[in-house]
Amino acid sequence: MSVLDNSPNAKLDKTLLDKYLRLPLPEGKVQATYIWVDGTGENVRAKDRTLDFLPKAPKDYPIWTYDGSSTYQSEGRNSDIYLYPVAVYKDPFKTGGNNVLVLCETYNYNKEPTESNKRRACAEAAERAVDTKPWFGIEQEYTLLDMDGRPWGWPTNGFPGPQGPYYCGVGADKVFAREVVEAHYRACLYAGIDLAGTNAEVMPAQWEFQVGPGEGMKCADDLWVARYILHRIAEEYGIVVTFDPKPMAGNWNGSGAHCNFSTKAMREDNGIIEIEKAIDKLSKQHLRHIQAYDPKGGKDNLRRLTGLHETSSIHDFSAGVANRGASIRIPRGVAEDKKGYLEDRRPSSNCDPYSVCNALIRTCILDE
Ligand code: ADP
Ligand code: MN
Ligand code: MN
Ligand code: MN
Repeated sequence: MSVLDNSPNAKLDKTLLDKYLRLPLPEGKVQATYIWVDGTGENVRAKDRTLDFLPKAPKDYPIWTYDGSSTYQSEGRNSDIYLYPVAVYKDPFKTGGNNVLVLCETYNYNKEPTESNKRRACAEAAERAVDTKPWFGIEQEYTLLDMDGRPWGWPTNGFPGPQGPYYCGVGADKVFAREVVEAHYRACLYAGIDLAGTNAEVMPAQWEFQVGPGEGMKCADDLWVARYILHRIAEEYGIVVTFDPKPMAGNWNGSGAHCNFSTKAMREDNGIIEIEKAIDKLSKQHLRHIQAYDPKGGKDNLRRLTGLHETSSIHDFSAGVANRGASIRIPRGVAEDKKGYLEDRRPSSNCDPYSVCNALIRTCILDE
């Protein structure tokens, strides 16, 4: 048996489900998939329920619970965790009906946010910064793996040729599993996610999609749901998605989640002055940001931010125009227009975007 067909999911007939999804839903019924971040801070969980009506706003959706002792979020004795709906998307999987994906925050029995609920603090900061109109655009890099944890399409014994031809590559020897990428792109747009674009990355089987620019919480919410949709689509193909920031050691690029950030003042004429002020503030809070930019407080990024492979060293702060070896890059076009946004290249691909946006708002806007 080839390693490429050892996934139980990949063996199933992919046309049969369609027969059942074409069955009409009873009048008024809605299938809702509730989605949340589990105790690892980087994996998503989901479960489904039927609603008898289509609520108008997220707050009108029923609060639900789940067993937090099975998601690394509580002990068995006191295991119920609350799901508070915060954002709603169209479901690209259960089409033919008003079915929805419901992104949720998680709360303990005492109604305090769980340890892995990073959204609450971010929403608080975004609310206080609302007048400055913060925009975020996140570039999500990731790698596709087979069931044995090997990058998809890599030879079982040995390695593909060295990096060079793969970034934005075209052709059967350059890119692997474009199906997943195309399906994900369309499904995200259908769902209502502001997917900005996508491209093949530097390492074979590594890809990127961009979300945004979105104001306030929109980009981070979209990113979590886009991650859910990606895992779900890849699951059908028997492909595993990893957001590990350095899936292959050695001379292979790691994965980041560059966060592009601007305020209203930065986007206006001569906004470059505001951008430089923000960079100055960021230079004094390097450690705080490194701690917020991966789920293990910097440990994951230690493997990626080496100073090689288009990264800066985790130990130093740096900034520069068009410099992909800096912590912060001012894109060439922004320097020329003297307005726009900055790119923080430090966030790890498995970062929680709520922690990243939260840190940027607090450092650059709220001066905390
Ligand atoms: P790169 O050249 O670094 O690969 P990409 O084209 O992949 O850049 O991503 C650029 C990102 O910047 C996109 O996600 C886009 O939404 C975002 N972006 C563009 N303008 C702004 C802005 N004014 N504020 C915040 N983000 C922005
Ligand atoms: Mn990019
Ligand atoms: Mn990239
Ligand atoms: Mn980038």
